[in-house]
This record gives sequence, C-alpha cells and structure tokens, in this order.
Amino acid sequence: MRVHLVPLGQVPAETLDETARGLREHAPVDAVVESARTPPDGARSSRKDAWQATSLLEWLDTLPMAGGGKVMGVTEAEIVARKGNNPTWGILGMGSLDGRCSVISTYRMRRRWENGGAPEALVRERLWKISLHELGHTLGLDHCPTPGCLMEDAGGTVKTVDRETSLCERCAQRFAESLRANAR
Ligand SMILES: [Zn+2]
Ligand SMILES: [Zn+2]
Repeated sequence: MRVHLVPLGQVPAETLDETARGLREHAPVDAVVESARTPPDGARSSRKDAWQATSLLEWLDTLPMAGGGKVMGVTEAEIVARKGNNPTWGILGMGSLDGRCSVISTYRMRRRWENGGAPEALVRERLWKISLHELGHTLGLDHCPTPGCLMEDAGGTVKTVDRETSLCERCAQRFAESLRANAR
C-alpha cells in the first residue's frame, strides 16, 4: 500500500525523508514524499499559526493522488482539535478512522519551547511512532488500552509516545490484516 506524505507548507526534507523511512522500516508500506501544498485559509485555527486538524483532513481528502493508498499531511506548525470545552487543544496527529487521510505535526515532537528542543534522535523516533499510529487509525484501528502499545491514546503528549515500543499483539494483527485488505 502506498502512503503519500504531503508537506503542508515548509517542511525540512530530512523530516519528510525520516518519516518515509520510519514508516517503511516498521510497516510493509510504500511511503512517498509528494510536492508541498498550502492548506486553505479556512483550515486555520483561531489560535495563531495553528491548523484545525479536522479541516486539514477534509481538505487532504479532496487531493487526488496517483496510485491510490493513504494520504498523510506533515506540518511543522501546531495542529489543534476540540477537546471538551477547549476548541484549540494541541495534538500530535489525527487520522480518520478507516479513512484515507491523516495528519502529523512535528510541533510537539520537537518541543522547541523546552530547553532548546528535543534531541534529533528522539524526534526521529517520535516521527515513526506517531505516523504509524495515525496510519493505524486510517486502517481502522482505534485507541488501545494496552500500556506501551503504539495505538495508545497519547492525549497530546509525547511522554506517552516515548514509553511506547511497538504495536501490541492484537493491534499488530489487525494492522497487518487491514493492510492486506487494502492491497486487494
Ligand atoms: Zn490516536
Ligand atoms: Zn494495542
């Protein structure tokens, strides 16, 4: 199955390459980097410099991609979603359940506001874990209660992601089954 990585605005080439490499390394997918696109102004959040994740997913779903497969937006900007009474809760990524599109943001992975940011090796690890998690949603996997499973609900914090190691047995099986179904 092909995963089209779509840079949203300016995204460093190494970030895109690392995401593609990380996905290929951890799942039998063909991750390819597409040309950069600029999301419509309507997808902007009321919070400065942030995007609304659900609006990004709707817009990404309108983009035609050769070869079919899944579409994953990648942005350096913050992405937000509604959580309870907070309409601008910062998140790491979002994927439509059993859908075509997902989006990931490096903003919380890098944590530039904290002690000069996260080390590159840690950012690389977060990139593959979070992209695999969102890809899992598009493959129909919901959040998993098993501690350490990549499909755990991160709750917007990389601390959850950092203690994750791999998909649990049940999620790994569902992930593989869904990939096979998508390949047909
Ligand atoms: Zn999730
Ligand atoms: Zn699991």
